[in-house]
Amino acid sequence: MINVTKSYLPPIDEYIKRLEKIWASGWLTNNGEMVLELEAKLAEYLGVPYIHYVSNGTIAIQIALRALEIQGEVITTPFSYVATTNSILWEHCQPVFVDIDAHAFCIDPKKIESAITERTQAILAVHVYGYPSDVETIEAIAKKYNLKVIYDAAHAFGCKLNGSSLLNYGDISTLSFHATKLFHTVEGGAIVTHTPQMADMINKMKSFGHLGDEYYILGVNGKNSEFHAAMGLCVLPNVTDIVKRRRSICEMYNAELSGLGIVFSNIPQNYDYNYAYYPVVFQAEAQLLAVKQALNSNQVNPRRYFYPSLNTLPFLQTRQSCPVSRILVLVYCACLFMTAWRNRMLCEFLR
Ligand SMILES: *Cc1c(COP(=O)(O)O)cnc(C)c1O
Repeated sequence: MINVTKSYLPPIDEYIKRLEKIWASGWLTNNGEMVLELEAKLAEYLGVPYIHYVSNGTIAIQIALRALEIQGEVITTPFSYVATTNSILWEHCQPVFVDIDAHAFCIDPKKIESAITERTQAILAVHVYGYPSDVETIEAIAKKYNLKVIYDAAHAFGCKLNGSSLLNYGDISTLSFHATKLFHTVEGGAIVTHTPQMADMINKMKSFGHLGDEYYILGVNGKNSEFHAAMGLCVLPNVTDIVKRRRSICEMYNAELSGLGIVFSNIPQNYDYNYAYYPVVFQAEAQLLAVKQALNSNQVNPRRYFYPSLNTLPFLQTRQSCPVSRILVLVYCACLFMTAWRNRMLCEFLR
């Protein structure tokens, strides 16, 4: 079976070398050498000033909400993985869903202002599939209404807008390094900040709020281990090649599938995309299901990303309508990619 995602595994010898270092030092977790090395290398690779390696991409969002002292309403997108909404609820904030732009897939900035109330404190937007949110417009709105901005950049590893990191927008960006993501450390995530004060706060918050014998603030356990950092250090040198390979596969899809009346990726200009996903928008749900079935019966397992629309989750207290997102997930569309390590097949089925 070819699954929607195949995790990249580095040459095992390299990982074993790292394991031997762990055995030699006896240091397994708590800001060990490899965690610090990974943080330094990620900051350099991504072009960001401060990055904190944490245990997953969900705790990264939770810590971001805490560090910015967000309470009350958080404007967010219904078109994402459930972790985005769950993090807001878990921190006892209220998600206020603003519909997405049908072409960009991200939150529609034109609809944000009318959702702002006196209880609104933040915007939590997602660069879904690694496509950029409209960061300039969101920044202007946030300034006008004095709101904090968090980007869930779980899909946007290494993406650049106008030549600089997309992670440098907003107050905080969060990443996921889960095994299914473009760059992974098995489990893991990161928090990107821009000021030494915020970096210092997150550094404490992710380690129970204390450094050594000094106790500063309320914290949680968001640390990650040497074993996970070791995987990251083995995967990171290969990321450029992984992106290149995906890019050539995406280009092959674009060429083979043009003229079918199906909507594909719409990558903006001046944007360095990471080719983490290849979203395919079908004309009707029936078409989506037929293609899914055809692929399934040939041992290919694509997935509907994202489904359901998050404003319809059963445990929400209030119902908000987001017709574009609902249509994108339910009626007209959204299935996704294939991390195409095998590839001609999708093209053949769609013809
Ligand atoms: C994967 C993902 C997360 C959660 O990351 P974990 O590391 O699995 O906790 C959050 N948001 C989005 C958009 C994701 O795709």
